[in-house]
Amino acid sequence: MIYVGAHVSIAKDISLAPVRAKEIGAGAFALFLKNQKVWSAPELKKESVEAFKENLKSLGFLERMVLPHAGYLINLASPKEDMAEKSLTLFKDEIGRAKMLGLKRINIHPGAYIEGERNDGLRRCAELLDKALEDTDDFIVALEDTAGSGSNLGSSLEELSTIIECAKKKDQIGITLDTCHLYGAGYDIRTKASSVMDRALSLFGKDKIIGMHINDSKAELASHKDRHESLGKGKIGIEAFREIVSHEIAQGIPLILETVDESLWKDEIIMLSEFHEKHIGK
Ligand SMILES: [Zn+2]
Ligand SMILES: [Zn+2]
Repeated sequence: MIYVGAHVSIAKDISLAPVRAKEIGAGAFALFLKNQKVWSAPELKKESVEAFKENLKSLGFLERMVLPHAGYLINLASPKEDMAEKSLTLFKDEIGRAKMLGLKRINIHPGAYIEGERNDGLRRCAELLDKALEDTDDFIVALEDTAGSGSNLGSSLEELSTIIECAKKKDQIGITLDTCHLYGAGYDIRTKASSVMDRALSLFGKDKIIGMHINDSKAELASHKDRHESLGKGKIGIEAFREIVSHEIAQGIPLILETVDESLWKDEIIMLSEFHEKHIGK
């Protein structure tokens, strides 16, 4: 079974996110836990937390189909001490928010090493992940693959695997695969989606794949650019998505659209669901 949804807005109140997801026919969704571009934000209001939980339940969303996305200021791999400190504080705050909402996972980019050695960046990322998870034994951080622009880590599956290997809290670190980022990083999912998915499965195992971000790409293969596009309107093309939703890797996890035109989300969800239904011969 597949669960398709989108990254919905938390504008006005975070409790509206499940409502917005339901409106587009989603079975899963992503959200930010606060304004993603600022270092500090007011605490979540008790009423909002209660309303969020209530909406989640009444609208029929499973907890594991909600995959929050951490804010963009956090850099887990920074070589600068003050930046690492601030990143850890903010990341822990966001994990706390997710827990308050009754959620058990969060998605984050591995970060950028900025200067020096790439391997040091991978190690710093693993160390900060361990620190961020020190107070919990059942909360999962999903590391998202990236297109690898600049000194951003995580543009290869092996690199994500190395970060997990370096961490002590291995069992609490999983993976999110973003199709646009994979393509930008040089994985040709336009023509070889299944073999790339096979590779990810054999490297991590099904249980480690926490979610997927389903996006077409405005940028070329191996461009190292992160430019999302609506499904079928970019360089990846529609057939890859048919293959992906039919693949074992996509079953039973949140498949989140982060495509550029929100007005198309409803149709994109229907299209992906139909691809899957036809595949299983429903
Ligand atoms: Zn992301
Ligand atoms: Zn993404």
